[in-house]
Amino acid sequence: RLEIKNLVRLYDGRRVVDDVSLKVLPGQVTCLLGPSGCGKSTTLRMIAGVEMQDEGEIWVDGALVCDRKFRVPPERRHIGLMFQDFALFPHLTVGANVAFGLSGDKAEMGARVDQLLTRVGLGSYGDKYPHELSGGEQQRVALARALAPRPSIMLMDEPFSGLDNRLRDGIRDETLDILREQETAVLLVTHEPEEAMRMADEIALMRNGRIVQQGAPYNIYNAPVDRDAVAFFSDIN
Ligand code: ATP
Ligand code: MG
Repeated sequence: RLEIKNLVRLYDGRRVVDDVSLKVLPGQVTCLLGPSGCGKSTTLRMIAGVEMQDEGEIWVDGALVCDRKFRVPPERRHIGLMFQDFALFPHLTVGANVAFGLSGDKAEMGARVDQLLTRVGLGSYGDKYPHELSGGEQQRVALARALAPRPSIMLMDEPFSGLDNRLRDGIRDETLDILREQETAVLLVTHEPEEAMRMADEIALMRNGRIVQQGAPYNIYNAPVDRDAVAFFSDIN
């Protein structure tokens, strides 16, 4: 469960994230939807802990991880990340890359790795090295790696955008299915209304650093908050 309260980020005196509050429940997908430059990635980076907010609080599973005085480092937040520019470890096999964040029983780890590689369509790739895979295949390995430790929160910044259309829908649905099964709270960033309508339980519509409307996709689509929201959704059919 993720909760952020009144998050603010200033660049050169400009509020690029301006009083953003959100809750994401376990097993739910919330889409942070808005045009380029509205502050989506900045919001995610603050939650991940790789960038510090100027104001506001971040709570993970009921515990405060960051406010103005107190800060849990990124690696101790139990937050999974799926970003566009993933990077695999080139010297490790595909299987070892997926197992990287896992610990404990070897046989269980092996079974988990096989299960995830199969679900992203790379069941027989465990012993290959990243350079032997195409870019899209590498990206699917990166998705499997992020899923492996069953993080309670997953932050996704357009992680499917590098995949070709035919593959993308399948991988996207499969990834979201796994996250829902694991009861992960998912915050998914996109600038495409269509993707948000398809994937989200809840949409937070963002513009100029602020959340201007929040609710179920159906409600947002049918009752846009203003003219700009109407225009933003107008190319869906
Ligand atoms: P996109 O859909 O294009 O990825 P976004 O919604 O993710 O856009 P952000 O990357 O969060 O947008 O950027 C929000 C605003 O903050 C933009 O106007 C951007 O130019 C500005 N910005 C981002 N990073 C910095 C930085 N390090 N220094 C100064 N300004 C920045
Ligand atoms: Mg971005």
